[in-house]
Amino acid sequence: MATVKGGSSKDGKGKKPHKNKPTSKKYSHYSGATKKKKTCPRCGPGNFLADHKTRLYCGKCHYTEFTDKS
Ligand SMILES: [Zn+2]
Repeated sequence: MATVKGGSSKDGKGKKPHKNKPTSKKYSHYSGATKKKKTCPRCGPGNFLADHKTRLYCGKCHYTEFTDKS
């Protein structure tokens, strides 16, 4: 690889301007006072359960809570 190193390139392929990315999905659950998402009883607050059709699932400790509404 004998290509030109360094950030100053004229074709604009160097550094990208920093964009403010939206924070991780996890933290979107915190926004507002609405605590709709269930947290994992094993992992504690901060670990939200994934909302599936019939169950809530913790990807960390594999805790599963069934939400059978029938
Ligand atoms: Zn868990």
